[in-house]
Amino acid sequence: MRKGIMREDRQNDEIREIKIRPNYLEHPDGSVLIECGDTKVICTAMIENKVPTFLRGKNKGWLSSEYSMLPGSTPTRKVRDISKGKLDGRSSEISRLIGRSLRSSIDLDKIGERTIWIDCDVISADGGTRTASITGSYIALKIAVKKALESGKFEEDPMKSKVAAISVGKVNGINLVDLDFKEDSNADVDLNVVMNDKFELIEIQGTGEGDTFTIDELNEFLKGAKRGIEDIFRYFEILEQYI
Ligand code: UDP
Repeated sequence: MRKGIMREDRQNDEIREIKIRPNYLEHPDGSVLIECGDTKVICTAMIENKVPTFLRGKNKGWLSSEYSMLPGSTPTRKVRDISKGKLDGRSSEISRLIGRSLRSSIDLDKIGERTIWIDCDVISADGGTRTASITGSYIALKIAVKKALESGKFEEDPMKSKVAAISVGKVNGINLVDLDFKEDSNADVDLNVVMNDKFELIEIQGTGEGDTFTIDELNEFLKGAKRGIEDIFRYFEILEQYI
């Protein structure tokens, strides 16, 4: 990763300050407020005692996710999906990404015929809302699972791995980790990377819209993402003592 002139307040390969407040809401089984710089998302995990029709009678569970942005989370009012009568393409794509990412962290054969609902509500958007949603949801899920184990709802621990996500990109020829909105809107290459705690890849979303990128450059981006995700997992280690 090239160090350089690009950023004033942090290194080019440094993530924004991350803060996760566990048990942020009263009612859900698990909840957090995650802040990554000025991006803020409330993530909740709620366990429902039924599964979608395609899984009925199979003695296994499901995890599903919904993502949305509060009208006041963006500089110009974001019209609610419900006002338009349908989920917009971006929200449904992100909802499915969060679901896939979190399903990789849990053994659904161990939760009985239940659905875990992950809901991510962006209250302040400054780039990286999908990656913050994935990282925050992992902690919300972990809290919900802990409660279900304590209450006897779950008989064995279904968690398989930790999950976190970060964005990487290229702006004015310089590689950056964890892009804010200003950087994101000027990025020629933009990737969202999801990894587990063995640093195996769960998903990569990458576009070279302003500039194409080579396989060698992709490797550089992934190395930057891995370093960012290492920092998140270090933060998790401290946080997990309190949940
Ligand atoms: N954004 C916005 N309105 C929108 C969608 C996005 O203001 O309807 C801003 C917001 O700051 C968001 C950023 O653009 O974080 C980047 O959006 P992108 O679709 O790349 O997703 P994200 O980086 O948030 O996962």
